[in-house]
Amino acid sequence: MKSSRITILGSTGSIGINTIDVIARHPDRFSVYALSAHSRIAQLAVQAQETNAKVVVVPTDHAAQLFKSCWHSKNAMPEIRVGARALAQTAADRETDVVMAAIVGAAGLPAALSAAQAGKRVLLANKEALVAAGSLFMAAVRDNGAELLPIDSEHNAIFQCLPHDGRAFAPTAPTAGVRRLILTASGGPFRTKRWEELHHVTPEQACAHPNWSMGKKISVDSATMLNKGLEVIEAHWLFAMPPERINVVIHPQSVVHSMVEYEDGSVIAQLGQPDMRTPIAYGLGFPDRIDAGVGLLDLALAGRLDFEQPDFKQFPCLKLSFDALSVGQGACIALNAANEMAVEAFLEGRLAYTAISSVLESTLTWHAGLPTRTYQSLDDVMALDAEVRHQAVTFLTS
Ligand code: NAD
Ligand code: MG
Repeated sequence: MKSSRITILGSTGSIGINTIDVIARHPDRFSVYALSAHSRIAQLAVQAQETNAKVVVVPTDHAAQLFKSCWHSKNAMPEIRVGARALAQTAADRETDVVMAAIVGAAGLPAALSAAQAGKRVLLANKEALVAAGSLFMAAVRDNGAELLPIDSEHNAIFQCLPHDGRAFAPTAPTAGVRRLILTASGGPFRTKRWEELHHVTPEQACAHPNWSMGKKISVDSATMLNKGLEVIEAHWLFAMPPERINVVIHPQSVVHSMVEYEDGSVIAQLGQPDMRTPIAYGLGFPDRIDAGVGLLDLALAGRLDFEQPDFKQFPCLKLSFDALSVGQGACIALNAANEMAVEAFLEGRLAYTAISSVLESTLTWHAGLPTRTYQSLDDVMALDAEVRHQAVTFLTS
């Protein structure tokens, strides 16, 4: 069996760490080619030592110096590459077969797209890349013979519940016989709270997810349910499914990761513990099933599985996401960029939790007043993204 050489974009994050954990369980199947990080350079150095990475990518010359000063191994130091361009080049490097796209935010788009354009197996955790550039990204996968495997647990679940012949696919039409995709959502830490009670919640409270341990940005997105909104947009692109055939249901236990409903009334679900190593191992091993280090699912211990309808009044960000998707790609770029700004401001104590949705709403209204544009290149997408960030600053302070 040929061993796959893996590049992990965003190796120091929650998904990156879990990816290294799964890889380390299968030294015969996988080796690490490259790792990247934007901060926590000391942690990157430890990871590079432990995985014997050949290349690391850091954002600045200063970070490169820091990396050198953190290198305490007798083994040869990896090649250090610097900057966003080097990151995109590394994702397309002929020495790598598989790219885990695990950077957070639209910042991850150029490198993820570069991996698709180079025909790699792309394990996509970075949902913001698809939200901002869905059609461009899916076309790059198709045109360059890349393999796209969704890592977001809901989309990984749906992928597992759809028919495939052991090959990854990037469809241009909904799979025949499928009626609806049903995305489950935990409802986050404020599921049982009324909107009026949320004004003073702190970043710590918003990040205390009941079931999953994740990076800060996605944790806040899960609390507002904007995360589920981004996932609806992600599912639209991944599975070529019209928005009206994507349904969201709250499932507080996070055991059913998502479902596919077929024309004959059958609903197929994927279940498992809330542990990202399962979808990561699925993507790495596909079409084989490999050990992920995840224990048994004890359904008797879980006892019950509950489902409820999400309330758009309690979760306005979910409604705004459906609105953005119905408007089109520009609105999705705007929604995502404004949200990144708003969440950062909330985490830094500059914005009230309940103002996040107001910032998104103002941004979408502002965007609706812009002349219609098309987004045919990465530059088109990144230009609007930058414009929105510039504009959103005024909404953060108003
Ligand atoms: P995280 O914040 O824990 O890690 C993010 C990683 O990206 C870090 O390595 C960081 O150094 C790097 N990074 C941050 N900004 C960067 C920039 N501007 N340029 C280059 N690198 C940068 O995030 P996470 O929770 O691991 O999530 C990563 C992605 O996976 C997100 O898109 C998230 O929505 C998605 N995802 C995460 C989970 C989860 O369980 N954590 C589940 C599903 C999907
Ligand atoms: Mg998810």
